[in-house]
Amino acid sequence: MKIFEPHIHLYARTTDDYERLALCGVRAVVEPSFWLGQPRSTVGTFVDYWASIAGFENQRAANYMIDQYHTISVNPREANDEGLAMEALAAMHPFLDHERCVAVGEIGYDDITDAEERLLIAQVAIAVERKLPLLIHSPHREKRRGTARNFDILREMGVDPALVLYDHNTEETMDLARDYGCWAGMTVYPFTKLTPERAANLLDLYGHERCMINSSADWGVSDPLMVPRTILELRRRGWDDERIETLVWNNPRDFYAQSGRLQPPTAEAAVPLAAAR
Ligand SMILES: [Zn+2]
Repeated sequence: MKIFEPHIHLYARTTDDYERLALCGVRAVVEPSFWLGQPRSTVGTFVDYWASIAGFENQRAANYMIDQYHTISVNPREANDEGLAMEALAAMHPFLDHERCVAVGEIGYDDITDAEERLLIAQVAIAVERKLPLLIHSPHREKRRGTARNFDILREMGVDPALVLYDHNTEETMDLARDYGCWAGMTVYPFTKLTPERAANLLDLYGHERCMINSSADWGVSDPLMVPRTILELRRRGWDDERIETLVWNNPRDFYAQSGRLQPPTAEAAVPLAAAR
């Protein structure tokens, strides 16, 4: 079975993880731009990091026959140094032109501050202007309040929900994502966020349409094989291969294909933009 991992930070993982993913059937990945664990001191660290996820990581993935794409953004955790965040926004544009940049993201709220909101709105506007999809994550704390406020902003800005992948959903936020009408991502973690069982419960409840599962693996406690582990749980529950492949391959492909930047064979048979809505 082919797997498209729609959210994983392999920048923070070793080469062994690329090999393990390839052995499990992962053929395509999206590496979202994220926070590096400590405050940045200069805009040059954004530029070098974006160059690395667009270049070096793509090569590391290619060594294991994995088709790698990426997203570009300034993370909400970087919003409170507003001067630097604005400098970084100005520096983003050449990276958003990259042929493998498939979305603006990941963006969203962290502590739900006014500075985070200004940065969120600025980056949503950039995505709308460039007609790029948006990868937005729910806050770690006060998930439901942050999620509701996030969707209000997207509605006010007239964003097409078909172009939004809202990630790290849990039992607390899935109904809000369904009401808004966007693509809903579920992050499966060994301990926090969702376990394979909890993700499968949500999928049984809400169905697999416009849903994706991901590992969001990074340098924290996480596991890059959480998509294959969740597939095993779904098979135990009687899900057939066709339904599972829609969830783990067709859905991420069809969402990111809206960037117009998926390369063959990843892009093969992607649902055309109008039909995806
Ligand atoms: Zn992430």
